[in-house]
Order: sequence, then structure tokens, then C-alpha cells
Amino acid sequence: MTIIEHAEEIEHLSSGKTRVLVPTMGALHHGHERLIRHGRSLAGKAGQLIVSIFVNPTQFGPGEDFETYPRTPAEDRSLCIAAGTDILFQPTVEEMYSAEQDLGTNADTKLTGTLCGPDRPGHFDGVCTVVNKLFSLIQPDIAVFGKKDYQQLAVIKQMASNLKMPVKIIGSETIREKDGLAMSSRNRYLSAQQRAQAPVLYKALKGISENNNLESAARIKAARDMIAREAPLGKISYLQIVDRETMQELMEIDRPALAATAVQFGTARLIDNIEIDPVI
Ligand code: AMP
Repeated sequence: MTIIEHAEEIEHLSSGKTRVLVPTMGALHHGHERLIRHGRSLAGKAGQLIVSIFVNPTQFGPGEDFETYPRTPAEDRSLCIAAGTDILFQPTVEEMYSAEQDLGTNADTKLTGTLCGPDRPGHFDGVCTVVNKLFSLIQPDIAVFGKKDYQQLAVIKQMASNLKMPVKIIGSETIREKDGLAMSSRNRYLSAQQRAQAPVLYKALKGISENNNLESAARIKAARDMIAREAPLGKISYLQIVDRETMQELMEIDRPALAATAVQFGTARLIDNIEIDPVI
């Protein structure tokens, strides 16, 4: 595996091979590993798999955990090698944000009026800004993003389409702990008690997807009640059912939908979601 830290080195790395990019913020866990292996399978033996690790300051809001976000570079490198990475791109903040007139890239506001959008103003603009920069530098044919951050995936697909970028965006399944908790770099912020309560996010979302005899509003109420009952240390930021493509709230599940939630446990903000298909 080659490690590259400077933008110009990666820019000059044209290979003629299919390039697959897996962007991350590091503190890699088994969920990232599976995402990277998915990237490897899409690249095939002949293609080039590039993983980026960059804790992107512009996607953190004031008071969020940019400074304290876990950084585990040595472990990350070993995991990238084990998962078949060809190139690890690990730029500094100065490298990525050196231009004096950096206007950034805005997320399409049609997709950010629900879920994490209102909770984290500017977050998806920061995500689009950094992903656009990574795409411009690396020029991937394919980029892989986790469905765990489903709204991010939708926002990036929309950005690629709006800007006519020649990149295929692939969503990769959420990898979970045995008890259902979605793996996340932020799970390490949880105390033992919070950790014991955190699997309720997925349990409540599964309840929404399985209770197909109930109206959406009743399903949401049952899920909220379950979280309040089983996770007294958690505070629900949102729990919504949205259209999987447009991220608009759905009153009725009459098209491919997504039930998604964010729950704050102390300093850890956990998110999760589940895909729900309409019953025909
Ligand atoms: P992050 O480093 O948390 O920004 O995540 C980098 C990429 O890994 C994003 O595309 C995430 O959606 C994805 N990811 C994070 N956790 C998981 C997981 N448990 N399963 C699958 N993908 C994940």
C-alpha cells in the first residue's frame, strides 16, 4: 500500500485503471473494513482502490466533536492494508483547505430539510465540499459510501448528478454489532450503561418496518415510546419516515422509504436507519 499525503502526488497518479474511492474520517472499525472490501471487489484485481482518511473540519458544527474526534492512524493503516487498499490518501487540513478563495460546495437543499439537516446546519455543505475536492483530485470512476449515513449518500448522489460528475456512487450495507448497534467511530464515546441501551435504535427501527398493519404515525409513536422506555439515557433528536430518494417526509409508506433516527447519549450522537418497501 502506498501512502500519499500531498494533493499534487495524488493528482499525478493517473493509471488508466478503474479507480474506486472510499472516503472516511479514520478511526476505522469493522464496518469501514467491510466498506473498503466492498470497494476492493468493485475495483477487481486490476483496478486501483484508494481509501482517504481526513477528519474534515467543515462538516463539524460549533460545539461538535472535531477536536476530540478519535484519531488512530497506526491501526487505520493496518486495517487498510488488510482490506486490500492500494493507496491511502491522508492529507492535512492545510492541504485540503489552502486556497484563499474557497467557496465550498453546497448540498442540494431539497435533501437537507429533514433528518440530520435541521439538526446540523452546514454539515452537508461541509461534506459536499470535501467530497467534491476528493473527487476532483482523485477522479474516481466509482465511490463507495455507507448506507448508515443514508442522507449523506443521497446528498452525494445528488451532487454528482447536479454537477454532472463522471462517477458512480455506490451505497454499501450497514454493518452492525451482534446486538444490532450500527458500528460507528463514535460508539467509543458511550459509557457501559449507554452502550447497553444503544441497541434500542435498531430495535425501534425494525419495529417500524415490521408493524406494517399500522399507519406511519402510529409506527413512529410506538418506536419513540420504545426508545424512551428502554433508553432513558438517550434523547431522541429525530425519528422520521422519509422517501428514500428525495428525503421528504412520508405520511404513508407507498414508495421505497427509510425510517431513520438520531439519539443523543451524552456526548455521542448516534444515527441509524432501515429501508422499508411498500407492501403491495
Ligand atoms: P466516517 O469515517 O464515519 O465518516 O465513515 C466513512 C464511511 O464509512 C461513510 O461512507 C460511512 O457511511 C461508512 N460507514 C461508517 N460506519 C459504517 C457501518 N457501520 N457500516 C457501513 N458503512 C459504514
